[in-house]
Amino acid sequence: MADLQAIVDEIHEKLTPRLGEGKVADYIPQLAHVDPKRFGMAIIDVEGRVFKAGDADVPFSIQSISKVFTLTLALGKHGETTWNRVGREPSGSAFNSIVQLEHEEGKPRNPFINAGAIAVSDLVLAGHTPREAIGEIVRFVRYLADDETIAIDPDVAKSEQATGYRNFALANFMRSFNKLTHPVEHVLGVYFHHCALAMTCTQLAKSGLFLAASGRNPLTGHTVVSKQRARRINALMLTCGHYDGSGDFAYRVGLPGKSGVGGGILAVAPGRASVAVWSPGLNHNGNSLIGSLALEMLATRTGWSVFGH
Ligand code: GLU
Repeated sequence: MADLQAIVDEIHEKLTPRLGEGKVADYIPQLAHVDPKRFGMAIIDVEGRVFKAGDADVPFSIQSISKVFTLTLALGKHGETTWNRVGREPSGSAFNSIVQLEHEEGKPRNPFINAGAIAVSDLVLAGHTPREAIGEIVRFVRYLADDETIAIDPDVAKSEQATGYRNFALANFMRSFNKLTHPVEHVLGVYFHHCALAMTCTQLAKSGLFLAASGRNPLTGHTVVSKQRARRINALMLTCGHYDGSGDFAYRVGLPGKSGVGGGILAVAPGRASVAVWSPGLNHNGNSLIGSLALEMLATRTGWSVFGH
């Protein structure tokens, strides 16, 4: 096995001159003001060994990466009936696109675009007040990472809420097709808050480790989901985890992954490791530019692509 610490250090060193490339998300001030030169990377292998570089322990806004955790929760609560409410096909459209919703009568294409995550938030709300549902999501992520310090950044949540016109449009549109069972404000309250979770690369890599280890978190010994479910969530991350850049990410990196506009990416090397990277500059699809390059370098150096060495 290659020396992972040496590989992570090399990736960090090689990418340092390029930090600052890409465009930092600027739709809310909390994201616009993040230093574009930040870079963090953390790998945790299925034996629990941790390899890190740069700002791996600096918290950032995980944004849409949270959609992996809420989907896992919704599947736990609703099982396969989850798929009555949201599809499993790549969208090929931007993360916040409304176009396909019209063709599909308010049923979002997959759980990792905004409309899909709004449907998933509605599912997580079942039987709860918004406050309880948000609490459940935070507790779930803390349990996954085995870290009680993980929290939502309230300023980010507030800003998302104040400026989330497009998300309100998506939710209202879905509601008009009777595709949401709770009031739009409640559903979006849950959605905006889980997007506002602040986590470090190390915490994120820990939270994703169950997906690399057939559903069981090897650090805690807890079985989070069945093997089959872990495999299926990985399949969705591979096909839908990078919006309309999912094909390119599969081509270049070849690992299930989920990105967020905060510049984070969680990637899963099944049977091997969970990897989190963070670098705020985004490419034209809204995915971390340097983070994608770091994962591409990692996949090349380790031969971890699910498509072969
Ligand atoms: N909170 C963001 C939104 O709903 C999440 C987008 C993302 O991370 O891709 O617009």
